[in-house]
Amino acid sequence: MQSGRRYNVALTTKTRCFIRRSNCRTFFGRFKKDKTTGVNEDNLFFPLSSSPFPELRARAQTIKRICRCPVCITEAKEISSKKADEPPRHKPLGFECPSCGYPTHCSREHWEADSEHGKYCSKLKEVNEDEHDLRGPREKSEYYLPGAQPYEEAISFSNWDMFWYTRGFRSMDTERMRRNASKLLTYPLTIGSVLHRHSYITTRNQRLTSEGVRSLTALRSTVHVPIGGPETRGGSINKPPTRIFVLGARGESALPPHVWGQLCYLFPAAIFQIYFIGPQVALPKESTRSMKLEEEEEEVPAPNSETTATELYGPPTPSYIGTSTSKYRLKSLTVSSGIPSYTLPHTPLLSLTALRTLYTQPIHDELGPFDPYTDVFVLFAPGLGYKSPTVPNKLQITSPNEWGGVIPLLLSTRCVILGTAYSPVDVERDIQAIETTDGVAGEFDWIITPGKNEFGSERWEVADFDVRAMVKINWALWAIRGKTREVQEKKTFLQILGY
Ligand SMILES: [Zn+2]
Ligand SMILES: [Zn+2]
Repeated sequence: MQSGRRYNVALTTKTRCFIRRSNCRTFFGRFKKDKTTGVNEDNLFFPLSSSPFPELRARAQTIKRICRCPVCITEAKEISSKKADEPPRHKPLGFECPSCGYPTHCSREHWEADSEHGKYCSKLKEVNEDEHDLRGPREKSEYYLPGAQPYEEAISFSNWDMFWYTRGFRSMDTERMRRNASKLLTYPLTIGSVLHRHSYITTRNQRLTSEGVRSLTALRSTVHVPIGGPETRGGSINKPPTRIFVLGARGESALPPHVWGQLCYLFPAAIFQIYFIGPQVALPKESTRSMKLEEEEEEVPAPNSETTATELYGPPTPSYIGTSTSKYRLKSLTVSSGIPSYTLPHTPLLSLTALRTLYTQPIHDELGPFDPYTDVFVLFAPGLGYKSPTVPNKLQITSPNEWGGVIPLLLSTRCVILGTAYSPVDVERDIQAIETTDGVAGEFDWIITPGKNEFGSERWEVADFDVRAMVKINWALWAIRGKTREVQEKKTFLQILGY
């Protein structure tokens, strides 16, 4: 959906500060023991409820309140199959697993009785330690982002390792560093690795279709210079900007602007305008104040027994991460007055715009006309195939409060629509939805066949409402495009002739 089921990029204040200072190459404090919290590289495991970090203790409280004991759920199902009228019991999670530190069951007895927990326990422990490390004193050298790519040093987009190596990142010495760096970079790199001429998405590995070759060739003619020409900033002269419309944006709109700025180093001759559009985009306080709107805290919908938890997950709107200087450079947007928004001209080659609104026909009209050579739509884990949390008996792809009517609008532009998903189940549901929904099914061509995204986050994200629901941001990748009119006309013509 445009507003729900999205995972926030958990950047702590400490991490944000580090990212801002990331150009200073000191390893100061790398192995220093944090006397105040007791957290250090040899001591990263704490039961969540007794974590030295208040936000993790608060998280434990939230989980205890809204997550349900899996053994109780099974018992409730058995009872309700015998007595249909009996409401399912809901006990708060009073027991914290000593191995992973997460509140997992209502009691020690139910924890002992659960043969399934072993499947999740080691992953939960990994997340527990990652969360403490993130807030701990270790110098996060994996967040050091390199500057301009030396001329004639080609970047490989085969996978994270090849990318980091060829792009001049510091060596990723541990799996934890890989997880952190992949989570930070997954949004710009998912887009960059598709748009780039050296993409791992090819016809050879059957990820790119013949229609896809045409669409990506068109986009690449705008982000690259002709083959053989120098890929330098000079190549951007007289080039139209490439517009990337990120719909249903949330965590990605809260990334520090210079993380999106990495795109410019991958395409030195391109000009990027990135639009984050969705009811939960991150906005600096200034832009909401200028609209005389009070900041509203969005509520996380409580799960109910009829719908599975993953269909309702909705973390709060992320807060804007920008330096104070960047806030002074905010310009009010000329389109769609009345909508909380901002435009940040980050560099002459990159501007970031955010609009806190659902994607509607008027917004579509204001941003149009669209051109498949310069414009691309991106839907990070849209959850199209999940039940709408607001309209009964509707999937999000057709619900007016979520994605209803949006996909046909995007298909009409014939621009590439890039989508991601959290897991195999997630991508399967989304694909099923687009292949069966009226107005969408039969109206598109595959550009990228659904499959693994080499530039997905490698970190597990744990849902508060069900600690067994663990996913990875941008795990899968697919892309479609509206069928061209010529093709449709040809088909009709052939049909008339009886073929
Ligand atoms: Zn229980
Ligand atoms: Zn456990």
